[in-house]
Amino acid sequence: MDFQGKNEVFDPRKCRRPGARGYNPAPMRITRRLEFDAGHRIPNHGSQCRHLHGHRYAIEITLSGPVVTIAGAADEGMVMDFSEVKAIAQQHVVEPWDHAFLAWRGDQAVVAFLATVTGHKTVLFDAPPTAEHLAQTAFRILDPLYRSRYGAKLELQQVRLYETPNCWADARRGDT
Ligand SMILES: [Zn+2]
Repeated sequence: MDFQGKNEVFDPRKCRRPGARGYNPAPMRITRRLEFDAGHRIPNHGSQCRHLHGHRYAIEITLSGPVVTIAGAADEGMVMDFSEVKAIAQQHVVEPWDHAFLAWRGDQAVVAFLATVTGHKTVLFDAPPTAEHLAQTAFRILDPLYRSRYGAKLELQQVRLYETPNCWADARRGDT
């Protein structure tokens, strides 16, 4: 096309919004799933969950952002490389919680007992460690980390925390 005297070939990848050069303005969501093993109990639960037991937890981290359209870039066509999404969640949630006992600070009997086990990996929470509370806690940990690393380019939208394959809780942006 002729534009201000210059001949330019139309390239849809150059459709840009101000301040977002090289990105398709239509955002997409991507999700990375990670798994870990941990113990917990829900002390006031009326049934089985009051006992000390463990789960193979899964956590799914969903981020939204524009798709990179820079030709030849390593992340062309992506919102973000999945390995980069993983790295932050792995370091700040999965590794600290993996093979730990997830305990409510108010669960005095268990907290006192675990304190007697030398070097035991215990993570203390401000509420009973339900899937809902773990999802909410993971969201609060991860949200500022993705924001500080990627600025406006990537935004944490949801953390889904599976306690079992059939039971999960979602912490979504705007809910907390
Ligand atoms: Zn449980």
